[in-house]
Amino acid sequence: MHASAQLIASLTSVQARITQAARQAKRDPHSVQLLAVSKRQSAQAIRDLYNASRQIGGQAVSAFGENYVQEALAKQAELQDLPLEWHFIGPIQSNKTRDIAQHFTWVHSVDRLKVLQGLARAARTQAKVLQICLQVNISGEASKSGCAPEEVAALVEAAQAYQDVLCLRGLMCIPAPSTDEEVQSQAFARLADLQHTLQQAYPHWPWDTLSMGMSTDLEAAILQGSTWVRVGTALFGART
Ligand SMILES: *Cc1c(COP(=O)(O)O)cnc(C)c1O
Repeated sequence: MHASAQLIASLTSVQARITQAARQAKRDPHSVQLLAVSKRQSAQAIRDLYNASRQIGGQAVSAFGENYVQEALAKQAELQDLPLEWHFIGPIQSNKTRDIAQHFTWVHSVDRLKVLQGLARAARTQAKVLQICLQVNISGEASKSGCAPEEVAALVEAAQAYQDVLCLRGLMCIPAPSTDEEVQSQAFARLADLQHTLQQAYPHWPWDTLSMGMSTDLEAAILQGSTWVRVGTALFGART
């Protein structure tokens, strides 16, 4: 199959899965946004997906998620002619906060104070407002990134001092892999519950975003309220 025919097929299939899950959840399909996860994919693959989305009409896919700063910056430089919105979704080293603040609109993976402060200071220097999600280790996996659920409130408290440069939009999670849809749903429901609790305690933040669901579990995430599904493999195929 021609590369773009393959991409159009993958994209159409992912969009259909999103629409169907949203309908099943009695939600407006437009309330679920697609973040195309382009880590370890080429700049050309990103360009091809953007063009494929323009070709089939409807909402263009213009939001791309990246995990590695150097890799992302190189691709951004090649894609400056396109109106793309960049989301940082990977683990954050505190010495990378300046680059991340400068080159990304959204950061989904804020999980500790040092990173929150680093991003805020960098955003201030650059006179920029960053859209932030706090990443929560919702399945309690020992080796995984994300703060513990009981640590989230302290991060929200810390964010109060940076309301001029950080906009706290919501929570993000990567649950432990499971093929059991019930187990997937329970993890996503816990994140949604946590968000609800924070919304009551800190009503001045938007809390309009749940970043959850990937290629294999986006349906369960949408049923539990996801507003950004982060999809890589199902769009681009396996990463090299
Ligand atoms: C790689 C990655 C994804 C996409 O995973 P797929 O299974 O390829 O859809 C989503 N979110 C994060 C944080 C990732 O690192």
